[in-house]
Amino acid sequence: MDVPFINFEPMHSEIRDKIIEAFKRVYDRNWFILGQSVDDFEKDFSKYCNTEYCISCGCGLDALCLILRGYDIGVGDEVIVPSNTYIATALAVSSVGAKVVLVEPNIKTFNIDVNKIEEAITKRTKAIIAVHLYGRPIDAYKVRILCEKYNLKFIEDAAQAHGAMHKGEKIGSIGDAAGFSFYPGKNLGALGDGGAILTNDIILAQKVRALRNYGSDIKYHNEYRGVNSRLDEIQAEFLIVKLRYLYKWNNDRQRIARLYIERINNSKLILPDINLVKDSVWHIFPVRTEYRNELQQYLKEKGIGTLIHYPIPIHLQNAYKELGYKLGDFPISEEISRTVLSLPMWYGMSEEEINYVIDVLNQW
Ligand SMILES: *Cc1c(COP(=O)(O)O)cnc(C)c1O
Repeated sequence: MDVPFINFEPMHSEIRDKIIEAFKRVYDRNWFILGQSVDDFEKDFSKYCNTEYCISCGCGLDALCLILRGYDIGVGDEVIVPSNTYIATALAVSSVGAKVVLVEPNIKTFNIDVNKIEEAITKRTKAIIAVHLYGRPIDAYKVRILCEKYNLKFIEDAAQAHGAMHKGEKIGSIGDAAGFSFYPGKNLGALGDGGAILTNDIILAQKVRALRNYGSDIKYHNEYRGVNSRLDEIQAEFLIVKLRYLYKWNNDRQRIARLYIERINNSKLILPDINLVKDSVWHIFPVRTEYRNELQQYLKEKGIGTLIHYPIPIHLQNAYKELGYKLGDFPISEEISRTVLSLPMWYGMSEEEINYVIDVLNQW
């Protein structure tokens, strides 16, 4: 049997007719940038996440860049980001000219170790970008308390956590602002690139709304040196359709995660804690093992697709050579990148497919 790492088929066959109707609506309206569909999606998404404002943009990286620019963070400033994350989190900070300050994760949760943030704060620190990595919320209240104590902006990188909840609040509504990505493989994905900023801060909302569109609120009146980073009408209309299914699709990921955790029983594997099932929206299902490369090869031979999130930590990437780090500087991130493997996780995996993955892992 073949079980791919990701498979959009069950999701996309379920909504095929509605997506085609959505395409026709936009096509027949003959209006493709910043129109009714973008307005409607922004309303729907802010309502879903329980924030006052949603400003859509071109991608998740842009969402984070626009938030930083909106808060006037740039050259001479420092921003704390987790050392274990997708590189986009750090690239956003670099793109505005600020310094990336890396903080190690907790090896059990993979998320930033909140207890290590305080020692990384200096008088130049302006913000913390906290990533809800793999769909699992960070301990947001502890981060909020730190941000209040040191007067820092609390920015959520929610690119992997659409719809996740933390202590009764939606991810994306807890920080000062949040950046989302609608890359096709995310829990809520467009059929192309897309992103959004959520916030309750009206000043920030007005500024990023202008920044994403050449720095202009009124056509040909440019308040800022902005960028062109807009969500297409067509993608917005697709996202309106898909948002209605997000709860169901996330529930299905939790079903799969529960089966994996309950039934995978192999002493060579470290699995996520069963108590996490309902906290995370399982953008990724990570396991860890000393024999990661052998396991990946074995699964491949059995027809099971896996990926590594992420094989090279940020401090060892060529792109960040200038930070001057070497192997051993962030041992927990290095340990994760050496041992982590992501199992197949997608809406609509059948019982047979799930059981096959479980059986193959238990026989290893
Ligand atoms: C995907 C992702 C991003 C960037 O989103 P894009 O839409 O690809 O630009 C940022 N942060 C994290 C954690 C991500 O997973």
